[in-house]
Amino acid sequence: MNRKITPPASVNELIEDIRQFPGVGRKTATRYAYWLINQDQTYLTKLATEIHKIKTLVRQCRICYNTAEGEICSICNNEIRDTGSICIVEYAEDILQIERTEVYNGRYHVLGGVIDPLKASQPEDLHITELLHRIKTEHIQDIIIATSPTAQGDRTAQYIRQQLKEFKGNISSLGRGLANGTLLEYVDQDTLIAAFKNRR
Ligand SMILES: [Zn+2]
Repeated sequence: MNRKITPPASVNELIEDIRQFPGVGRKTATRYAYWLINQDQTYLTKLATEIHKIKTLVRQCRICYNTAEGEICSICNNEIRDTGSICIVEYAEDILQIERTEVYNGRYHVLGGVIDPLKASQPEDLHITELLHRIKTEHIQDIIIATSPTAQGDRTAQYIRQQLKEFKGNISSLGRGLANGTLLEYVDQDTLIAAFKNRR
């Protein structure tokens, strides 16, 4: 007798979709899918509508590639921010992480990834040309390279430094104390604050 029990097809489809989220395996995906089944229709409709419209509402900032509703993000649009300082990050979510620490008041530049030969990700796949153009045209005096302390993050930081050989201002990277191999996203706030203060 075949005792293998599977969820109904529509639930299975939902599980497979949730499984594509970063860090979510089958077990967690199944738990989330069954959790959703137990929610009321109002919540589910709201969630579905938000997911449905997110791609049309949210885009990349024309200046820094942060996520934005509209052409320019709230940071580039903020006149109180220090426009002479650029903090270079891998992903837009890294900005949120740094903003929570409240140690930085300049602008950002999102690379959109890292240089990673294993994934065939090259410098030209990142927003590096745009970064160099900004540094030339925006009178930048201070550059902070805030890539993750991973092999790929370090390689990317090194490449950017090479490209900035002629830059006359100040270039620093986040101080160590960040555990090697950790993505910036997962670094706790105190460690990140210390890394900002101990820039080199
Ligand atoms: Zn922006």
